[in-house]
Amino acid sequence: MSHPAAADLHLHSEWSWDAPQGGMEESCRQARAAGLRVVAFTEHADYTAIAGGARLDVPGYLDAVARCRRQFPDLTIWSGVELGEPHRFRAEAAAVLDAGGFDWVLGSLHCVEVQGKLVESSELGRDPVVAPGDLMRAYFGELLALIRGPVRFQVLAHLEYPKRYWPAGWAPYDPGDYQEEIRGVLAAAAAAGLVLELNTSRGQDPERRMCPAPVVLRWWREAGGRAVSLGSDAHQPAWVAGGFALAQDVVAAAGFAADQARLGLWASVSGSGPHTG
Ligand SMILES: [Zn+2]
Ligand SMILES: [Zn+2]
Repeated sequence: MSHPAAADLHLHSEWSWDAPQGGMEESCRQARAAGLRVVAFTEHADYTAIAGGARLDVPGYLDAVARCRRQFPDLTIWSGVELGEPHRFRAEAAAVLDAGGFDWVLGSLHCVEVQGKLVESSELGRDPVVAPGDLMRAYFGELLALIRGPVRFQVLAHLEYPKRYWPAGWAPYDPGDYQEEIRGVLAAAAAAGLVLELNTSRGQDPERRMCPAPVVLRWWREAGGRAVSLGSDAHQPAWVAGGFALAQDVVAAAGFAADQARLGLWASVSGSGPHTG
């Protein structure tokens, strides 16, 4: 897989509060073995209760990146951060960006306010009980606030994220049920010049958990979206590039090709429309 777009641009290491089995050095080794040319370590900067007050140690993290760059000179390593709800935590997010000077910044929505209550996607099905339709409409609505919020980021991460934690008792998630809302989000993201991430959910059942679904990538292209990135969201080295074989096919089928100008990204192919069938 020594493909020019062979880049995993959403990785977590031991510097993320929720990655106790993470390992930056071993992840670099895995990335090289998988034929990747570029990786980004996008550690969590979260400020909701679920993070338990954990804060990213920016200087420690940057030292670790520098060590790995020396150790793996044939791998391009981008520093990065995954901002959780930066539109809600503006001062905190701005401060971490100032401290880090990161190469690659993800904007993420992990929790959503539904009828006045903050709901963590990873705790769906527990208190507070919400209806799937209410949750997803609130989610897509809040994404507009994230995109238009004052804190700048480059990548819209894992669109449709709540489906990763979709309770078994709910009717299956179908992006077609929210086409209007999703297209609105994609138009705003395209206008903001964002990259849309295809998150392969660590390779776990990528057909079902790929965020967003393949059809949404086609809508992205139709909305004028120009760039896609691939991210496994690995929280341990063994998951680096998880699900990428399928994801590369999906991105290509949606009308994107390895970007010759920007290493690691996929660019919309001009001219002919997305492939079908
Ligand atoms: Zn995330
Ligand atoms: Zn992540």
